[in-house]
Amino acid sequence: MAEDRVISAKEQNTDRTWDLTLRPQKLKDYVGQEQIKENLNIILQAAQNRKEPIDHTLLYGPPGLGKTTLAHIIAKEMGVGVKVTSGPAISKAGDLAAIITNLQDGDILFIDEIHRLNKTIEEILYPAMEDFALDIILGKGPSAQILRLDLPRFTLIGATTRYNLISSPLRDRFGITFRLDFYKSEELAKIIKRAASILAIEIDDQATLEIASRSRATPRIANRILKRVRDFAQVKGDGRIRHDLAKQALDLMAIDQKGLDDLDRKLLYVLVENFSGGPVGLNTLAASVQEEAGTIEEIFEPYLMQLGLLSRTSQGRVATENTYKYLGIKRPEDKNRLF
Ligand code: ADP
Repeated sequence: MAEDRVISAKEQNTDRTWDLTLRPQKLKDYVGQEQIKENLNIILQAAQNRKEPIDHTLLYGPPGLGKTTLAHIIAKEMGVGVKVTSGPAISKAGDLAAIITNLQDGDILFIDEIHRLNKTIEEILYPAMEDFALDIILGKGPSAQILRLDLPRFTLIGATTRYNLISSPLRDRFGITFRLDFYKSEELAKIIKRAASILAIEIDDQATLEIASRSRATPRIANRILKRVRDFAQVKGDGRIRHDLAKQALDLMAIDQKGLDDLDRKLLYVLVENFSGGPVGLNTLAASVQEEAGTIEEIFEPYLMQLGLLSRTSQGRVATENTYKYLGIKRPEDKNRLF
């Protein structure tokens, strides 16, 4: 399944303990995303000078790029507490009320996968975000009364991988919105170096770059591959990660030079071979590779599009010239004219 593979950007159980040690705590240790850091520095300083919490903030982008990390950093930099939850975890109005009423003034409420919040909860969130108030309905029918509960002045940080699934009333209530980008190889190399040093792993520069370039431009994957390569180095070598050894380990994991694995290649082959390079609808494509449409959209496509190996058009998904080159398949003549 897509979510179990080494290069899945989604968090896996084994990542959790690992993530805690490697997650940078301060903005200065957060690698890359320069524009976000620059903006955030100003926002944080201004809020601290005014002794006010920062505006509600929405972070979006593919999984594993550092949204949760950034939320924790913001809390740390502001010197406030953070309560972490997720859209699907809040199923009843009471769950949300319990969480928010327990926050201290200035605290951060981090809601991961905020696009999965149900509509009733979302509506309760509106006055909470805007007026720092919760409207609780007491009783039923004509005698029902609304009790307005004052809340602490908290900051909501919402994270999502699916920006387009966030309703516009919710979107509008965020004062700050940041889109996280994929990382450059040099930035990932820095993240890998930092992780290796925290974990006392010896790794040479070329091996670092090799892992960086095959990590799908994603820090979570870079850290996970580093861990797998370390195991390989311990069993097959003397524990040190040298370039040739890193290459062997990555080849064994069937991750290629571009950071793609068998599932990516299968998707591209199906697109080119079964659907003549498209356009093909997302659901049809998903059914053909036996994955969920959401997984394809959230996990596969962002990186394939970043590499220019797939395009989304209003008619559906299409292969590009690069797709044919990558697969080593000759592009039909008529396709050259169409796309
Ligand atoms: P997301 O919430 O976007 O899925 P996370 O914040 O959980 O991603 O990031 C996954 C892991 O990647 C973190 O635990 C951290 O170790 C690493 N990481 C993410 N972004 C950065 C960064 N900018 N600098 C250093 N490490 C990072």
